[in-house]
Amino acid sequence: MRYDVVIAGAGPVGLLLACELCQAGSAVLVLEQAASPDSPLKRLPFGLRGLNAPTLEALDRRGLLDAVAAGQVLKPEKGPPPPGTAHWLSQPRKLGGHFAGIPFALDNVDSGRWPWRLPSPVGTQMAVELQALEAVLAERAQALGAVILRGAGVQSVRMGADEVQVEAGGQAFRGRWLVGCDGGRSTVRKQCGFSFAGTDPEFTGHSLSVELEDPTVLSPGRHTTAQGMCNFNPPGTIALADFDGGAGHRQPLDRESAQALLRRISGREATITALHLATTWTDGARQATAYRRGRVLLAGDAAHVHSPLGGQGLNLGLGDAMNLGWKLVAVVRGEAADALLDTYQAERHPIGARVLEWSRAQVALMRPSAGSRALAAIVADLAETRDGATYLAERVWGVGQQLDLGHTHPLVGRSTPDFLLVDGRRMGELLRAGQAVLLVFDAAASLCEEVDVERAGILSIAQPAIDSLGLSALLVRPDGIVAWASDGAEVAGLARAVQEWTGSAGREAIA
Ligand SMILES: Cc1cc2nc3c(=O)[nH]c(=O)nc-3n(C[C@H](O)[C@H](O)[C@H](O)COP(=O)(O)OP(=O)(O)OC[C@H]3O[C@@H](n4cnc5c(N)ncnc54)[C@H](O)[C@@H]3O)c2cc1C
Repeated sequence: MRYDVVIAGAGPVGLLLACELCQAGSAVLVLEQAASPDSPLKRLPFGLRGLNAPTLEALDRRGLLDAVAAGQVLKPEKGPPPPGTAHWLSQPRKLGGHFAGIPFALDNVDSGRWPWRLPSPVGTQMAVELQALEAVLAERAQALGAVILRGAGVQSVRMGADEVQVEAGGQAFRGRWLVGCDGGRSTVRKQCGFSFAGTDPEFTGHSLSVELEDPTVLSPGRHTTAQGMCNFNPPGTIALADFDGGAGHRQPLDRESAQALLRRISGREATITALHLATTWTDGARQATAYRRGRVLLAGDAAHVHSPLGGQGLNLGLGDAMNLGWKLVAVVRGEAADALLDTYQAERHPIGARVLEWSRAQVALMRPSAGSRALAAIVADLAETRDGATYLAERVWGVGQQLDLGHTHPLVGRSTPDFLLVDGRRMGELLRAGQAVLLVFDAAASLCEEVDVERAGILSIAQPAIDSLGLSALLVRPDGIVAWASDGAEVAGLARAVQEWTGSAGREAIA
């Protein structure tokens, strides 16, 4: 059988992409190297992952948020208070997040800077266990018809003009398209000759699960030390950053060597009585220079790697899947030209590059040097200011993300506001079928456009919203990104927006 799309890797990104494709009826095969979805590295404490606003919105827009939230590790922060209210003044002081371990306070964040973020039940942060998240996504993907083959790691790839041939687990598979979601050491990326450019590691990160003779020897929390960084979460979860240029990455540790490392980095005479688990990671930051080569695409860690500082990689990868999913569906169905897939790279590569820079900047603040300590003290002062906290929140929560779609309106390229219609439905709910949505708030708005919305697969709804932000109409892509918006009498340009967004060869639905 030839699949529409073969996905390498049943990590969170491959699984969300499978959901997106299968929801629209594509035939999808997911090939996964690991025989079992269970791993201690995906379970707590090592499997703790922070989700940001774009991810939570994406999950809401596919009806997956409740299932993910049911397994959340910590209570999520509610979204920022509605713009224009003094709500933040009455909040007790809570942490909004951090940058290189420098915290910013929630009550210092000015959410009025993001007037397009309407009040919504969808928050800006949630902590989940990676394994639980994958389980929710795998269950949905399979319910929608995805075939997931575990213990079938991709070994080789042959790219043809009409299809891609993949050898995995000793068997051969064929797909019209192949997407490498096979993580930072992606075989698909290497096999298909993608170049992966960036910077080498400055440190090795160690995550340890240990028993300590006397846990009070270490101070809980995150500390920059003369040798690196030590983050202690009692009773026995420890993260260390050793500025060794990455030499310690993937080097096995036993109890003695782990203890020596801990003593050296923390500067404390801690004694490890038992070592349960040890794993390493680095701050190497690399990004594929292209996300597409012919019929092969990359998403998630396969397309970009960076240090996990500040928890952005998973969010970045899930954003890739949302962006790529509906485009691949349109191409598979013959509704859009292949060129539409090039907009995936054009839109997502700059977002990825920005995250890599964010992680590099954090490393610069963490270096065990006098200069970095001085710089960190200045950033800490700035984080205490309202402007500073708001800037950090915007980047950490992902609420300022905007794709470059031409900016014909300030909302274009942004995640859609979660409009509440007068009949009680929210924008997030309207997107659940994976369809584009045209909302016409103003009954007087005459779109006089040559777009057959029904044939273009657009759900069209004419109804006022509780707060329409002064818009008369708005077109939202299946991934929840605003493609076109109009306020007042200015309602032209819808046809052009649909055409640009579907690819220039376009759908026949556009007259
Ligand atoms: C300590 C740590 C903490 C982190 N915290 C956060 C956080 O709080 N927030 C955040 O956003 N990100 C965080 N990240 C990053 C995040 O975990 C990754 O960015 C995310 O898991 C990437 O998802 P993925 O699906 O692209 O790749 P992966 O999760 O790596 O999944 C890839 C899958 O492909 C499979 N595979 C590998 N090779 C093959 C092959 N040849 N054929 C088939 N399958 C293959 C693998 O077995 C795996 O199942 C953290 C990372 C670490 C290490």
